Amino acid sequence: MSETFDVVVIGAGPAGYVAAIRAAQLGMKVACVENMLGKNGKPTLGGTCLNVGCIPSKALLDSSYLFHQAHTLQVHGVSVKDISVDIPAMMARKDKIVNQLTGGIHQLFKANGVTHLVGKGRLLAQHQVEVTDETGNLQRYGARHVIIATGSSPITLSVAPVDQQRIVDSTGALEFLEVPKRLCVIGAGVIGLELGSVWARLGSQVVLLEALEKFLPTLDGQISKEAFKLFTKQQGLDIRLNCRVTATQSRQGDVTVDYIDGEGRTVTEVFDKVIVCVGRRPNSQDVLVGDIGIATDERGFIRVDDYCTTSVPGVYAVGDVVRGPMLAHKAMEEGVMVAERIAGQATAMNYRYIPAVIYTHPEIAGVGKTEEQLASENIEYNVGMFPFVANGRALAANDTAGWVKIIADKSSDCILGAHIIGSSAADLVQQMAIAMEFGATAEDIGMMVFSHPALSEAVHEAALDVHGHAVHKVGRKRK
Ligand SMILES: Cc1cc2nc3c(=O)[nH]c(=O)nc-3n(C[C@H](O)[C@H](O)[C@H](O)COP(=O)(O)OP(=O)(O)OC[C@H]3O[C@@H](n4cnc5c(N)ncnc54)[C@H](O)[C@@H]3O)c2cc1C
Repeated sequence: MSETFDVVVIGAGPAGYVAAIRAAQLGMKVACVENMLGKNGKPTLGGTCLNVGCIPSKALLDSSYLFHQAHTLQVHGVSVKDISVDIPAMMARKDKIVNQLTGGIHQLFKANGVTHLVGKGRLLAQHQVEVTDETGNLQRYGARHVIIATGSSPITLSVAPVDQQRIVDSTGALEFLEVPKRLCVIGAGVIGLELGSVWARLGSQVVLLEALEKFLPTLDGQISKEAFKLFTKQQGLDIRLNCRVTATQSRQGDVTVDYIDGEGRTVTEVFDKVIVCVGRRPNSQDVLVGDIGIATDERGFIRVDDYCTTSVPGVYAVGDVVRGPMLAHKAMEEGVMVAERIAGQATAMNYRYIPAVIYTHPEIAGVGKTEEQLASENIEYNVGMFPFVANGRALAANDTAGWVKIIADKSSDCILGAHIIGSSAADLVQQMAIAMEFGATAEDIGMMVFSHPALSEAVHEAALDVHGHAVHKVGRKRK
């Protein structure tokens, strides 16, 4: 055995690196095993999120949005000539941000005394982790506690094998060096819509083929309808529901895609590139060796309780590799919870109020229950809504699409859900997540003073509207 640690974390994505830093802050001797290499071929930290997920996708979403906005500046009385886009420069900027953030995790590890073990980790036994480096060199480490944080990988489709040239996954879609003329995105979920939006804003003709009949089915129904309308009618995303891809053929200059459409017809179309975005699967197989008693479910997620403890004492699992939404902020909080519980604290996580965001424009964000969920649970509720078109700040910014919707319990008035489609929805929804965590009622929010002019006034008005008190809304009587 090379060395024994209080905690060995396997995986340095948001779940793992955060768990490692928090455990070290609490005075434990910590190692974090990570095998990912960055684009420069050197070991990197930060996992999917920092390297090929949240951060690079948002960098491209922001750059492409600015390019798109530059074409609408006449509205503000600003004229710009010869707007053009330099994709390699855009990619270089994205890579710089990734390097800055992943470098920051290296520094945080150093500052907190976390040992970075470079290589692939496997749990050999309850208290033993094996690390294999790039050259095949094996080391074994003792671990009083193990945290499995191995994340997830893109689900592959046998009918559309990824070659990262013509047919790419979400990682390849962050690396195009020119704008594809015709782009097919298989899967109109969160990641497909974000990546499709990037390339559509830069000039691609984007077709999204979605096997489900319903668009974004887990969202509040009104939000998904509004989003579909905005994306298809205003932004030109060609979203085709109920379309199942049956074959693809990658050729020298293009790729053909066969699919069966909603009417059962077989259609063949030619694209320059295809992005496969049909979900992600947990990375649980490689890390578990033989039968050490760690239970997984039928989809491969490691089974854990509310405190992320597995079926083996002293072994925990956090982030995308366990149940719950595959979101970086959920992963990070699980990392903190487990580190603190190992240190003897009674930390718990409230899974009811985890916000979820789609970073399209407008953004889509929600927290808590949707109307559909409440109806199916026979819970009575009141709804308040307020459109951004009646918000002064949104008008000033020429960015008035969407609205805020707040759902409150009919008898207690406690807020049960908040759903927003509009500019800055990601930041606005957090206000409601905080309010819900503290058990706020719609009346509480209605009685607060909001800055003016600000987009958050739409949250205030939606809360007032729950009881028909919205001041700047036509069509509701003041009670
Ligand atoms: C394009 C894209 C955009 C996204 N955007 C968002 C967003 O805006 N907001 C959001 O909340 N979420 C977003 N996500 C999801 C988010 O990236 C994940 O939920 C998050 O990264 C999960 O964190 P994790 O630590 O559980 O796993 P990961 O980030 O996947 O990290 C796991 C790490 O473990 C390492 N690993 C795996 N097996 C081993 C092993 N055996 N030994 C050593 N190391 C191992 C992997 O190399 C990886 O670095 C996005 C994902 C993608 C793909």
